[in-house]
Amino acid sequence: MPPPRIVIAGTGIAGTVTAHGLARSPAEVICLERSAAGDQAEAGTGLNIGPNAMTALRLYLPDLAGTLAAAGLPWRRWTAALTDGTPLLDLDVADLAGVPGLRIRWAELYRILRRGLPVRYGCEATGVVRQADGRASVRVATPAGPEIIRDVDLVVAAEGRYSRLRRLIAGLSQPRHLGVVMYRTLWEAGPGCPIDDYGQWFNGPNRLLAFRVPGDLVYCAGTFPLEPPDAPVPAAMKDAEILRGLYRPDSGPPSREAGYLIEGVARHVDTIHWARVQEETILYAPAGWPVVFLGDAAHPMIPTLGQGATQSIEDGCSTADAIRAALASGAIAAVPEAVEARRSGRARFALDLSRAASDTLLAGADPIEGTREKAGPDFRSALVRLYRDVDPPLAPVHQPGA
Ligand SMILES: Cc1cc2nc3c(=O)[nH]c(=O)nc-3n(C[C@H](O)[C@H](O)[C@H](O)COP(=O)(O)OP(=O)(O)OC[C@H]3O[C@@H](n4cnc5c(N)ncnc54)[C@H](O)[C@@H]3O)c2cc1C
Repeated sequence: MPPPRIVIAGTGIAGTVTAHGLARSPAEVICLERSAAGDQAEAGTGLNIGPNAMTALRLYLPDLAGTLAAAGLPWRRWTAALTDGTPLLDLDVADLAGVPGLRIRWAELYRILRRGLPVRYGCEATGVVRQADGRASVRVATPAGPEIIRDVDLVVAAEGRYSRLRRLIAGLSQPRHLGVVMYRTLWEAGPGCPIDDYGQWFNGPNRLLAFRVPGDLVYCAGTFPLEPPDAPVPAAMKDAEILRGLYRPDSGPPSREAGYLIEGVARHVDTIHWARVQEETILYAPAGWPVVFLGDAAHPMIPTLGQGATQSIEDGCSTADAIRAALASGAIAAVPEAVEARRSGRARFALDLSRAASDTLLAGADPIEGTREKAGPDFRSALVRLYRDVDPPLAPVHQPGA
């Protein structure tokens, strides 16, 4: 019998973590990546990875966890203030979680996660069909022309938010817009930069969020309300002076941190990545297909709690674990349902909490009351659950040198 064949479409975060978890497993694992080797064009900013992802990695892939921790900076605190400097919140994330999260450049995260994997770059999964025997055939556009990979026992569709395979299998789903514009950018910290660990600065519902990442860089994400919620981002907002006006306090000059960020955003307005905050129906296991969706393909996250990449890491860990268990028992066809059972409640909880925590970003929101509530026992215990309730593995996978 040939070994079971697994195709991983997309080597962003969920796909690579799954592939690492399958290292030295008996399966034949084929990793397809649309972008060319070394092309980081889609990963230009920074990320804060929640402590729950670091806990998952320590449990499932301890060597990879160590490599990532060494390449990033610890995310220990979450502070919030008004842009005039009035303090609102100071949460000890590392204490709530038991471990710190991670601040890292997105491109560096991809580079580390892809290292050592047999990634076929420049290869885009363009279609999937069910074979009569219940397995799948995957159509691939490669630099050498079209190709069909047949007799695939399991397709791991981890191609991100605009997953082509999800669209083909489950159809276009209607995103639900929250009514918030989010833009992100990264710049050199420069001398005297006052930004270090994760902080937020509010002027009404308009918010700046920033933290330092390795390489002496500052990652900054700004938000402001959007009405109606599904409107396109107004072109007029993509202007340095308009953006300054969103965050300048009426009561006087901005704090040193807020002033630094306001001017940084204005200087980098041309390189900003713009998006609208939206969510979609969670879907891991499409009925009747030997396919499992992971990461943003399964559940585009509302970004408020930094759970997008974080839940993708949890997905990858649990999925590799479920596949290894299925390889041992010969029940690989049951993997999509097993992943759905292990992951959908957890992803739902992370998504619901992220939406609830976005209350301060909506039109008419009161950031003072909304942020102070986050210091209260209800929100803190929800965070403890988010940060600590990680699906335990059957067995960790050791990869010296990962
Ligand atoms: C600017 C920005 C900042 C963010 N900041 C944070 C943050 O601070 N914290 C956080 O937790 N999350 C953050 N997120 C969200 C986070 O990046 C995503 O949730 C996460 O990358 C999803 O991981 P994934 O593995 O599902 O998909 P991705 O990381 O998007 O990876 C998908 C991969 O699939 C490849 N691909 C796509 N289509 C195909 C195909 N058909 N065939 C083969 N390959 C394909 C892509 O090239 C890519 O490599 C941010 C997102 C953006 C846009």
